Amino acid sequence: MDNKDIIKCGLLGYPVEHSLSPKMHNASFKKLNLSYHYSLYAVELKSLDSFIKFLAKYNIKGLNVTVPYKEKILPYIEEKSEAVKKIGAANTLVIRDFKIKGFNTDFLGFSKHLKELIDPYKLKVALLGAGGAAKAVVYSLLKDKVKAISIFDIDRKKAEDLVKKAKEWAVGLEINPEINQVETIEALDISKKGLLINATPVGLKQSDLLIVPENLLHRGLAVYDLIYNPAETKLLAAAKGKGLKFSNGLGMLIYQGAESFLHFTGVKLKVSDVAAIMKEALAEEVN
Ligand code: NAP
Repeated sequence: MDNKDIIKCGLLGYPVEHSLSPKMHNASFKKLNLSYHYSLYAVELKSLDSFIKFLAKYNIKGLNVTVPYKEKILPYIEEKSEAVKKIGAANTLVIRDFKIKGFNTDFLGFSKHLKELIDPYKLKVALLGAGGAAKAVVYSLLKDKVKAISIFDIDRKKAEDLVKKAKEWAVGLEINPEINQVETIEALDISKKGLLINATPVGLKQSDLLIVPENLLHRGLAVYDLIYNPAETKLLAAAKGKGLKFSNGLGMLIYQGAESFLHFTGVKLKVSDVAAIMKEALAEEVN
């Protein structure tokens, strides 16, 4: 096949070189015999405008979007999914019918993967972090009808803003969840929660301390850490040591990738089938 017939997809961000996405997507294209290729596009902010303008010329038909562009990309999107409009961030673009269409598959990825750990229906949740990923997490938790979410972030304003947004998202849900922002980790009231989620970067570095005091990890608590590299943060090691249910965020990454893959290619496959191919491709990738 001629190179020009290969449809291009990729990851837009800055930096992007440590991403696992090319491995996941290229393995899936190969397995399904699709003439697509997934590359990394490290684009500086000053070049973002011209990069987007020339997508068609470069024959780029699909993009994942990562830090720092999930929000900055919004003005370029001509057709936004409901989740993009509500969350205010997009991580997947598809260029079709001469239009840039934007989706958020992060929240779907989290929702799908969380259910492998615990049923979120009527669950009480403590959330650490109120940044970009936490927005997708809260949107997903509300869609899945949790009973309560308490949020702590060292940046108080971010937590306040997320609570405000979450209350808007919750309007019209069949259950009326309690959503609040707290000033300390202790005030998260973890002893009364069924799920603790870490959506901060604390744990990425070996030198990071355990983010919550170990004595707050009670029996009956499940722990989800969005970090997947390292595969076992200090938080997850503590949860494991106490015999709790726990998970890292690799499955979230895989499921969001699988949802994006379906947008890029339009193939009629179950997301779980694509996720299985991606999981196999990444086996042993994360330490
Ligand atoms: P972000 O936008 O920077 O948000 C992180 C938030 O956590 C910030 O508001 C930060 O405050 C806050 N924070 C930092 N240290 C804290 C602490 N000790 N206690 C409470 N809050 C604290 O980052 P993000 O994009 O949301 O990513 C968060 C994490 O999720 C990262 O580790 C990322 O790798 C992971 N992630 C995983 C997936 C996946 O697919 N598994 C997807 C997306 C993100 P400051 O800004 O003031 O520091």
